[in-house]
Amino acid sequence: MNEIRQLSTSVINKIAAGEVIERPASVVKELVENSLDAGATRIDVTVEKGGSELIRVTDNGHGVPVDQIPLAVASHATSKIRDADDLFRVGTLGFRGEALASIAEVSRLVFRSRPADAEAAAELEIVGGRQEPIRPTGAPQGTMVEVQQLFFNTPVRHKFLRTTQTEMGHLTEAITRLALAHPEVHFTITHGGRQTHDLPPTDDLTERVAMLFGEELAAGLIPVEAIDEDVSLSGYVANPTHSRGNNRMQYLFLNGRFIRDRSLQHALGEAYRGLLLTGRYPICFLHLKLDPAAVDVNVHPTKLEVRFAEGGRIYSHLLGTLRTKFLSTDLVARANLPRDTQLGDKSLSDEDEVQQATPEKSELFDWAKRQLGSSGGADVPPFQPFPSEGGDRKPLELHKVDLPRIRPGPEPPSSGERVEEANPTARAGGYVAGGYDGKEAVGETHRFDRPHTLALQIHNRYLVTETEEGLEVIDQHALHERILYEALREKVLSGALESQKLLVPEPVDVAANEAAAVLEQKELLAQLGIEVEPFGGETLLVSSYPAMLANLAPAEVLRELIEKLLAGGKLPDSRDLLDELLHMMSCKAAVKYGDSLTPEEVTALLEQRHLAQDHHHCPHGRPTALVFTREQLDRQFKRI
Ligand code: ADP
Ligand code: MG
Repeated sequence: MNEIRQLSTSVINKIAAGEVIERPASVVKELVENSLDAGATRIDVTVEKGGSELIRVTDNGHGVPVDQIPLAVASHATSKIRDADDLFRVGTLGFRGEALASIAEVSRLVFRSRPADAEAAAELEIVGGRQEPIRPTGAPQGTMVEVQQLFFNTPVRHKFLRTTQTEMGHLTEAITRLALAHPEVHFTITHGGRQTHDLPPTDDLTERVAMLFGEELAAGLIPVEAIDEDVSLSGYVANPTHSRGNNRMQYLFLNGRFIRDRSLQHALGEAYRGLLLTGRYPICFLHLKLDPAAVDVNVHPTKLEVRFAEGGRIYSHLLGTLRTKFLSTDLVARANLPRDTQLGDKSLSDEDEVQQATPEKSELFDWAKRQLGSSGGADVPPFQPFPSEGGDRKPLELHKVDLPRIRPGPEPPSSGERVEEANPTARAGGYVAGGYDGKEAVGETHRFDRPHTLALQIHNRYLVTETEEGLEVIDQHALHERILYEALREKVLSGALESQKLLVPEPVDVAANEAAAVLEQKELLAQLGIEVEPFGGETLLVSSYPAMLANLAPAEVLRELIEKLLAGGKLPDSRDLLDELLHMMSCKAAVKYGDSLTPEEVTALLEQRHLAQDHHHCPHGRPTALVFTREQLDRQFKRI
């Protein structure tokens, strides 16, 4: 065995550098964090060759007195904590006191600083960990740290550096995170002599988002704020029309520090469940503020991950806040017309829209929720299909549900006749249901006072309807599916789903592993109104069946269920599974793309849409309707 030896400081620093300094972006992160901790209001980052040649960070912070400069670059020397107890109330970004020492070990580093009260600046140069004497120099107040030839003395690390473009990408991302955490600080980035970013200070986070990601994303942001006794949540989430194929645009900040937290990401995903297509991820810019004692930031060398004392509470706080917000937000999908015709959108930002629409809508949503949650029986998922007799699909039975009348007004007209009088030509291309009296004064009545909206079914697929803003094209299947999905979910969760005992239980033959999978999920299926029993060998008996699926053969539904149960090999958690099954059932029970609907059916479907909390998206996250504003049309027809 080799002799045990104490490692030299230099080796220790190199090991530490290995943990903290992975690439140029890590250096930039550490340096900019130091500038922020020093109270800088302006930070300029200059880079050559993606940071491998040069990284220079200049700030106007409080600086370091000349006698302290050697300590700044010494390992385990920090001005930010004093003792171990301070570790539990860290309010600064740094505290380990090892970043500068580590960087100095693997580069040529110059640290130049001048506090406000000093007559001149002082400068210390360290080459591969070896300090030169400190010398006075001229410089404005603040600190400049220059890192040249990163990893020049650690060839292995150097070899791992990627192309300039890749390194620059990481580096920009690191600054983006810091700039989003601190919109009040002015940042600039210059690469290869060209300024790539100039982010002036602002107190409006959306302005910073617009500078970094474009106006379009920023305009569609939904503000979020929920401050309770010890957790404060504020910031923005993106409208579901904006999403990404990965979760990298989820910017979560905890006490000003960018973090990655699986549990919070999950909460975010849950909040958008049903609003985004599978495989799409929400975008957010959210700031959490907590008592520093309630979180341990000392669990990860780069502090990217943290540990919450009360993770569960923060999870529910985030999820609850977003859910409530979405219930009162109009998440309608805008029709995607060519860009130059979209000016209509800009005149009314989403925020304005939300604020205008919120009170009445939440009232309506609350009402709808109560309706869905209460009692079994009469208000079963509306639009309930009939059991089929003799093969032919019977017309769908429509239960009319009266919409609440928020403000007193005339009774809505009965469907049919009145429209034909008012607009006889409208029948030509399909059915017309209901009648929206275009003369009604806008502003006097709320949009939802008029459930009877003109609607024309086209190609047995879409319903076209006039709205105050312009016109809306509704996907009949997607909308019905959404309504059924929500109704069904409420029923299932409140245990009020109607299930019919089959007079003669239906045997279904399946494979042995399939039977096992079904029986394993027996309880979950019972919640969905499907009762199955083993019937020896590879046969299952379906003894109860949900009323709403009456027109579908139990065997067919069971086979689909099995497919879901066995998909991917691994059983999904029961909540996901339940959700999948709800999707499947509502999809099966909904009117199809291609079904011809009677005027009454069209009316009923449109009336039901406001019962759904989010009638703008089908359960898979596709939009149920597209809006074309009058202004867009006017533009397309070159009227304006
Ligand atoms: P830490 O940030 O964890 O304390 P660092 O090695 O990053 O450790 O920095 C060491 C110390 O150097 C800091 O505690 C701070 O006092 C000082 N320092 C570093 N950069 C700056 C700066 N830009 N402005 C003022 N002080 C700085
Ligand atoms: Mg630091």
